[in-house]
Amino acid sequence: MANHDSDVPKDVYVQFVRSLFESKNILLVGALCHAVVPLMAYVRTQRPIFAILSVALLGIGIWRYLWVRSSQAQLDLLNDTSARKWENNYIFKGAVQGFFLGTFGFVSIYLYPDQFVELGAAAVNLGSLITVVGRNYGSSRMVFVFSTTLLAPIALALILRGDLAHVFLGILTIPFIFVIMRSADEVRKILARAVTERRNADQLAQRFDRALNTMSQGLVMFGPAGRVVVANAQAAQALGFQNSEQPLGRTLKSLLMRGVAGGLLSSKDFRYAQAQLTRALSKGQGKRVLLRLTDGRHLEFSAREGKDELAVVTFDDVTQRVEAEEKIRHMARYDSLTNLPNRAHFQEMVKDLMAAGDQNRLCGLAVVDLDDFKSVNDTLGHPVGDGLIYAVAERLAEFESDNVKVSRFGGDEFTVFFNRVEDERDFYVQFDEIFSRLRGSVDIAGHMLPTQASGGAVVTPARDSDVDAMMVKSDLALYRAKEQGKNGWRLFEAEMDQAFRDRQTLKSDLRSAIRANSLRVVYQPIVDIKSMRISGCEALCRWNHPELGAISPSVFIPLAEEMGIVSEISTIVLEAACRECVRWPEHLGVSVNLSAKDFYNGSVVDKVREALSNAGLAPHRLEIEVTETALLDDRTSTSQYIEELKKVGVRIALDDFGTGYSSLSYLHTLPLDRVKIDGSFLRDIAGDARSRQLLIGIINLSRNLGLAVTVEGVETFEQLRFLRESTKPDRVQGFLFGSALTSTGIKTISDMEWSTDERFVGTG
Ligand code: C2E
Ligand code: CA
Ligand code: CA
Repeated sequence: MANHDSDVPKDVYVQFVRSLFESKNILLVGALCHAVVPLMAYVRTQRPIFAILSVALLGIGIWRYLWVRSSQAQLDLLNDTSARKWENNYIFKGAVQGFFLGTFGFVSIYLYPDQFVELGAAAVNLGSLITVVGRNYGSSRMVFVFSTTLLAPIALALILRGDLAHVFLGILTIPFIFVIMRSADEVRKILARAVTERRNADQLAQRFDRALNTMSQGLVMFGPAGRVVVANAQAAQALGFQNSEQPLGRTLKSLLMRGVAGGLLSSKDFRYAQAQLTRALSKGQGKRVLLRLTDGRHLEFSAREGKDELAVVTFDDVTQRVEAEEKIRHMARYDSLTNLPNRAHFQEMVKDLMAAGDQNRLCGLAVVDLDDFKSVNDTLGHPVGDGLIYAVAERLAEFESDNVKVSRFGGDEFTVFFNRVEDERDFYVQFDEIFSRLRGSVDIAGHMLPTQASGGAVVTPARDSDVDAMMVKSDLALYRAKEQGKNGWRLFEAEMDQAFRDRQTLKSDLRSAIRANSLRVVYQPIVDIKSMRISGCEALCRWNHPELGAISPSVFIPLAEEMGIVSEISTIVLEAACRECVRWPEHLGVSVNLSAKDFYNGSVVDKVREALSNAGLAPHRLEIEVTETALLDDRTSTSQYIEELKKVGVRIALDDFGTGYSSLSYLHTLPLDRVKIDGSFLRDIAGDARSRQLLIGIINLSRNLGLAVTVEGVETFEQLRFLRESTKPDRVQGFLFGSALTSTGIKTISDMEWSTDERFVGTG
């Protein structure tokens, strides 16, 4: 007999074996029927064999029933090998029962034929055969063994009856067995298909589930009635559900409402989300909706209307991306050091503010610029400079409000905007409060630094909303404040505009003067303090303006620096100084001032070399004066150029010492020859003992560092006497020995000896 069991997958086979044990109660009913019919046969025929069969069948039936019942617990653990053993055992017990039922048939048909008994036996056996198909389809061997053990004795009995009809009937049992087998096979096939299909469906569902719950996005699928039919774990979690079953059956609105109830969505966001998502769902095609949850997370939804009215909403937690974008946006609009709005953002903000509201109101704009910030930066380093900027920003930021906006405009420059001021007086009071707050000092990394600033401001009606023009006017006012000695602020006046224009004219005039070669160079004597004779002179540039007369180099040199043409002036002075110096007696040298900007490109060394060789001047007769600002400006390689100049053979003097923040001990690492102490140190020595001490201290320190010392700005005999009697600098320079002369003038006085006393002025 073909064994179909091997055709089915193992798990299906196990299921089939399990099905054998499913309907145990029918075994009990069967056992009773099997016993009752032979018992009736015994009552009717009084033949003991029927009584024995009745008892035997009852016993076998109960035996099978009890066994099947006791097996239930172990069936769950079935695998394909143990299933085989259980099946065999089941078949054996079934075969015993089948055999006794067959025997009952044999006895009633052949041994003790009786019409009633024969009918009874046929009914019982047919019933059993039918139920074997219904219950035991799971094992084709069982169906075969049971029907054979049952039908074989019956077939034998029929054939033994000998007459044609009975023999024929007996033979017919053989195809009958096949019909039974076939029916069982059909049932099993149908069931096998169902089981396989369910298993496939389960597998599909499992895969679907897996895919759904391992994706990083949240997914909710809405069915035809707009209710959730699928939601994955991510979606459930994000929406505040405990598991992915809970959202099922809800509408979009109820999902969002739950978000509100759980405190994840504000009611304002709820309305927005509902409107946007509903629209996105009806439009189809992934329109994205970004929602900010109250816990700070950002979810980006995208909706898609699919086939069969299934709409899908997916969403991602895009918090990181949104935060990164926000950070980038912030970085583009705010200054990283102070966290104040930067220039671009400030201008935009002010434009918007001015365009809104009452156009007749007055607005104010102020520029604040730290005084001498560059020296702090250059001498104490950028971290300290940054610290100062930060401290000032902090103080300014205290005043920020709806009405007042503060920004770091760049470098050491800040701007303050006032969205509404009553009048200039009101502005004065408001801004002066801010400005006064700035005054003071702050400790940055152990340096007590003054937070001193200058300011310029303008007040205009909102309707003139030209921010750039306001900036220019504030700058002009600032410029004026700086001119007037810093540490204060000015309000813009129309006259400043004129001054600005004048300045522009002056610039173009300066350019023309350089082109026309009309700048002149004069020489101020520098006197040796021991011999009281001239030992050199300082070349100073002069500009005689055709209309304005003599213009001070303190005016036009910064102008030239601003215009980027100061090195043209340096060349003129260098060339002239070297040319003239050759004509003077050997013991006279010449000093030339170089600007910090001269060191912005490396050509300065070549320029000096060229001037020397053009004139044929010995390098040691030329001295270059540089300020400490130039030396410490680390945007340039000044110190490297100084070293190179030193190699050329020229001397290097540090000019205006004492006006900045530098410390000599640091500067001394540079190959300097001389320090020129600024005239401001002399001013107070007459009455102030401390000033005297300070001056003496600086001179001694310079000496100890191996530097020669020149004191500038000597104007009185008293000052000269003090210098001669105290610590004696090497050289002195100042109006006491005359202001700058022409080259010929220097030649004339080259042998003159100055008196140290006013009683002998002019002798020589
Ligand atoms: P500086 O280098 O300190 O030059 C000395 C300035 O002090 C000169 O002013 C000089 O006339 C002035 N002075 C001399 N003796 C006395 C005195 O006893 N009392 C007072 N109060 N002042 C005195 P000047 O010529 O107006 O030059 C001003 C500044 O302009 C110079 O200061 C220098 O920094 C710059 N400068 C002048 N010529 C040139 C140049 O050719 N190139 C560069 N880069 N800068 C120059
Ligand atoms: Ca100088
Ligand atoms: Ca000087």
